[in-house]
Amino acid sequence: MASVRLERITRKFSNTTAIDNITFTVPDGEFWVLVGPSGCGKSTILRTIAGLETATAGNLFVGDVLVNKVPARQRDVAMVFQNYALYPHMTVAQNLGFGLQMRKTDPAQITERVEKVARSLGISHLLERKPKQLSGGQQQRVALGRAIVRQPQVFLLDEPLSNLDTQLRDDTRAELKQLQAAIGTTTIYVTHDRVEAMTLADKIVVLERGRIQQIGTPQTIYARPANRMVATFLGSPPMNILPAIYMGGFQVDEQFLPCPPSLREQVSMSEGQSFDLGIRPEHISLGDSQTFSELPENRQGELMVEVRVVEPLGEKTLIRSILPDANIPLQVQASGNWQGNVGDRLKVQFDLSQLFIFDPATGETLYPQS
Ligand code: ATP
Repeated sequence: MASVRLERITRKFSNTTAIDNITFTVPDGEFWVLVGPSGCGKSTILRTIAGLETATAGNLFVGDVLVNKVPARQRDVAMVFQNYALYPHMTVAQNLGFGLQMRKTDPAQITERVEKVARSLGISHLLERKPKQLSGGQQQRVALGRAIVRQPQVFLLDEPLSNLDTQLRDDTRAELKQLQAAIGTTTIYVTHDRVEAMTLADKIVVLERGRIQQIGTPQTIYARPANRMVATFLGSPPMNILPAIYMGGFQVDEQFLPCPPSLREQVSMSEGQSFDLGIRPEHISLGDSQTFSELPENRQGELMVEVRVVEPLGEKTLIRSILPDANIPLQVQASGNWQGNVGDRLKVQFDLSQLFIFDPATGETLYPQS
């Protein structure tokens, strides 16, 4: 096993800078997730580590070894792709053992390692089947097994669960986390799925347009996002953003939210200045609920919204609403038995201690400061 270090890595494709001056180190044994919107450069980073792309600039180390010029086959890393890329004419056992065979491993040892990995993935009964005789979930396990059996220094996983249905995906995600903890191999995992990123990662790297926006634990990224992009990308449903003007409190549309004293002390604000306010749906409650009524008054704020879409999710209901005069969207969570209708106008209460403030021009987080 080994750490992976990217030092000022850039990859350009003619006019496009796919990744731009990326630096981070994944310590030995950790599980890191690269996340960001489509086209942000996640796969290019992974492919560069694997040796399938060549960096335009920068250095890449696996452990202490500079691998810039080491061909993919000689890098001790194993990559699992979204489309599994199994060999269709080989059985599962042959697929699993192929990498070892290419490395001239002793046949008895190949059999032993293949059987052991198949047992750990619950696919021992499938060893003689061909890939087309397997379900998507089973194929995905074989692809993972093929990486594990090689005992590489690093696993590189590119959206490995995205072809699975929701239930299987949730189950496999949990298994994968257990498996990585047991094997302890350094893992870098690419996804655009926020829940996968939050649940799997020791550390998350949030990317946008080829640049790192923030690196941190899931808890840090959620509680202390560096900017509006990170704040709105992670968290499901995402954080609401309300454009506001400071007038002693915040004027939002034609309505008004008080400014908590702690916020006024920490952020320099002048009358008439614009800000973006951020509030997560779980920190807004419906006016008729008791949830926030026990908060001290200086932490409460209230806005009127109009319901646009009601999404019952079982234990809770997601209400997509707008601030009526300016058409600003606001998502709110209510209890599972919430009874309301599209077109209803409601008062919603904010827990103002959970408010975020962003610079509207740069998106930088002004409050809370990390
Ligand atoms: P997705 O989630 O959609 O897979 P991604 O975050 O993995 O996206 P990349 O595949 O790394 O993004 O692509 C990053 C950028 O580089 C994109 O703008 C993409 O169009 C561009 N790009 C990637 N590969 C090439 C290539 N071979 N030639 C030209 N441009 C490329």
